[in-house]
Amino acid sequence: MDAKTAAYVIAPPALVAVPVAGETGLFPVRRILCVGRNYAAHRREMGGDDRDPPFFFAKPADAIVLPGRDVAYPPRTANLHHEMELVVALKAGGAEVSPERALELVFGYAAGVDLTRRDLQNAAKDKGQPWEAGKAFDEAAPISSIRRWSGPPPQGRIRLSMNGETRQDASLADMIWNVAEVIAEASRLWRLAAGDLIFTGTPEGVGPIVRGDRVEGEVEGVGRLAFTVI
Ligand code: MN
Repeated sequence: MDAKTAAYVIAPPALVAVPVAGETGLFPVRRILCVGRNYAAHRREMGGDDRDPPFFFAKPADAIVLPGRDVAYPPRTANLHHEMELVVALKAGGAEVSPERALELVFGYAAGVDLTRRDLQNAAKDKGQPWEAGKAFDEAAPISSIRRWSGPPPQGRIRLSMNGETRQDASLADMIWNVAEVIAEASRLWRLAAGDLIFTGTPEGVGPIVRGDRVEGEVEGVGRLAFTVI
């Protein structure tokens, strides 16, 4: 069989695509990078050293939970945590992007939750093992629609409530690396590309979710999401 007639030996996996607010077109997801400890108060609540800079980890694209879908409580954990985050969606990429040019890569923003199996993450930390089991599991990345955006990044509030009670409420201005710096830093480690999503870190107030909880999140001016953990 030559290249022209080559076919997949199994059905290819579906492309993950996120709705865009007010538009019919979808945003295709290439990969998901996440920033750890990008708010000082959250770094402290996690026992971090104030001098440690933020860092990156990743989730697979198929960890996305599309807007309006509920989330299945994941297996092998007794301590599922919510982390409310601003998500950046890229329309272009590159390596070694300067902070001054970084915002040119932005398609838009969304509200997302970095769901975390905290017990598995902590066990991995203790043993010096990788974080995938704690962070990169199925349905670990609920997200809102993406809002197309140009100009300065969102600077409003970021909030999460559980069963109507506020758990996280902070300002995006409290990020240690701002959006342009997050993109620039990521591009020093990976060649970024259109379709990449970056979860930019969570403020303080992370905590456990149990089955039946209703989680509602908002990034002011960007979007809202809501799901029940079933
Ligand atoms: Mn996070």
